[in-house]
Amino acid sequence: MSDDQEIEIITVECIRTPPEHITPDKVPGKVEERAMDPGVKEVLAKTMLEGVETVWDRFERQQPPCKFCESGVSCQRCAMGPCRIMGEGKTRGVCGATVDLIVSRNLLDQMATGAASHSDHGREVAETLLKGARGEAPMYKVEDEAKLMVLAKEYGLDTKEPVNKIAEKLAMAMLDEFGTLKGELTMAKRLPPGTYDMLKKAGLLPRSIDREIVEAMHRVHMGVGADYRNILAQGVRASLGDGWGGSMIGTEISDVLFGTPGIKKGKVNLSVLKKDQVNISLHGHNPVLSEMVVRAAELPEMKKKAEAVGAKGINLVGLCCTGNELLMRKGVPQAGNHLSQELVITTGALEAMIVDYQCIFPSLPNTAACFHTKVITTSPKAKIPGGKYMEVTPENAFEQAKKMVELAIDNFKNRDEARVLIPNKSMDAVVGFSVESLRAALGGTLKPLLDLILEGKIRGCVGIVGCNNPKIKHDYGHITLAKELIRRNIIVVETGCAAIACAEAGLMRPEAADLAGKSLGNVCRSLGIPPVLHMGSCVDNTRILNLAAELANLAGVRIDQLPVGGAAPEWYSPKAVAIGAYFVGSGISVSLGVMPKISGSPNVIKMLTEDLEGVVKAKFWVEPDPKKAAAILFDHIETKRAELGL
Ligand code: SF4
Ligand code: SF4
Repeated sequence: MSDDQEIEIITVECIRTPPEHITPDKVPGKVEERAMDPGVKEVLAKTMLEGVETVWDRFERQQPPCKFCESGVSCQRCAMGPCRIMGEGKTRGVCGATVDLIVSRNLLDQMATGAASHSDHGREVAETLLKGARGEAPMYKVEDEAKLMVLAKEYGLDTKEPVNKIAEKLAMAMLDEFGTLKGELTMAKRLPPGTYDMLKKAGLLPRSIDREIVEAMHRVHMGVGADYRNILAQGVRASLGDGWGGSMIGTEISDVLFGTPGIKKGKVNLSVLKKDQVNISLHGHNPVLSEMVVRAAELPEMKKKAEAVGAKGINLVGLCCTGNELLMRKGVPQAGNHLSQELVITTGALEAMIVDYQCIFPSLPNTAACFHTKVITTSPKAKIPGGKYMEVTPENAFEQAKKMVELAIDNFKNRDEARVLIPNKSMDAVVGFSVESLRAALGGTLKPLLDLILEGKIRGCVGIVGCNNPKIKHDYGHITLAKELIRRNIIVVETGCAAIACAEAGLMRPEAADLAGKSLGNVCRSLGIPPVLHMGSCVDNTRILNLAAELANLAGVRIDQLPVGGAAPEWYSPKAVAIGAYFVGSGISVSLGVMPKISGSPNVIKMLTEDLEGVVKAKFWVEPDPKKAAAILFDHIETKRAELGL
């Protein structure tokens, strides 16, 4: 489809839940069961009273799940199947596949999907830098020249050339990483030497980003391999290609183009919507489009247009990881995380929701059809029936962004004031903790942070990452785990929907130091930082990798020797599977709050929760109770401290 085609693909209907689904008397109980945040609860009640269908309603209707699918023992990979391993004589698929093979192949598929999603995002960001540097997309200029130079040196480029020439060469060098023939990724050299050598010896260092994903997809074909250990190893290698390749490129080049986040104040939760302004939410992942919408909305002519329709201005709010990117860099308010996306529309005050890709409910246009909201889709990869498609490329992004803002302004008149419900108490948060901003805050080096850990004032560090999942009360896993960890003097770094959850709970305010243990609380008060640090979006989990690598390098140890851990208490996405695998592959053990679909294979469970430790010195735990997960992570951190003689 050409760039200028903008079409309503199809008209969709508002899907309403049947009146008997949740009767008014059941609303308070259901709301308590589903959510924690006061504003979320308020709007959630509105969905129930108005019969607007949400993810929770659909989840309930899907129960009980298929036991074979849930345990990972069903296979649909070829036309001889589908097959299910049911025991009692049905212990192999038609081709002869065992339960271990079927379960491990399904998991490899998930890891490859996650790695591909992140890495494709990273590729688009690098392509945008290339086009910007060549003058083909002039709105994209280098914003952080210092970071460009650091990366250029890392890639062996001549830093004396003009900025755009360096940017062009860096973009080319990074795009080369996707199919490089040099046999390894440049940024994998950031790994501490001990970790790098361990991965090399185990044959787990990715050869190129795309190659490992393609090989993973090759290996899930029938009759390629039958050893579940060998299959899972490829999952770890493809995921490492995401962590130290695709996602890292996404983060680093986004910083070059749009600025490396600095520490700043922000506001979060549904209350950031404004009653008297044109509200536009930016949902998805890639900052390439959303940054242009921010610029378009700031144009004086747009403000005038908004005033002409009776609004006081244009209010941009973020959702999910696009929101995190904008909050970290520009301080754009964040309306919510994954399970809030339908609620933002249900406030009745949203003129447009602009989306790119990943984590966008396919039914969002149906939700929007219950109100006046326009859903605008923008990526040729992600067209959604019922969305207004306005194709965005680096060349046309700013012009398209202006049209999107105008469309939202034009839609303001269709708002039904009688149906508007905006919760009235937003939450403050201190955000923007990139490795660079942390270093700057600590006087130019992470050494003071390492010293605090070595002295025991901070016992260790845990990265809480990942999604929401209707299997778990909204945000309960993230908030409970974070509170339990900081209480034990463990500093928490967060990304993705986990970060939004804890920001909304007030854990990213400096005064949250009072919820931390005594020594961590004192450290936070002396530095003026919260005990839970927002490090960005899901691709920005690479900031956590870089933080761990830098601390390990400073300490002269491998990453797995550090008193650190990871957790994904409410994960749902295959991207989270890849993140978990690259954390573990890099030496950071991870606690999962939701069981992956592997329970049908005790061997696969053992491999992930025990045997992996013999290869990469890290492993997974599965612990749905966040209080127990905190205890596991604390014990792990104390063990690591003891092993270091601390
Ligand atoms: S690959 Fe084997 S187990 Fe899977 S569907 Fe085909 S025959 Fe069945
Ligand atoms: S944390 Fe999960 S749900 Fe949230 S944006 Fe990232 S992948 Fe999507």
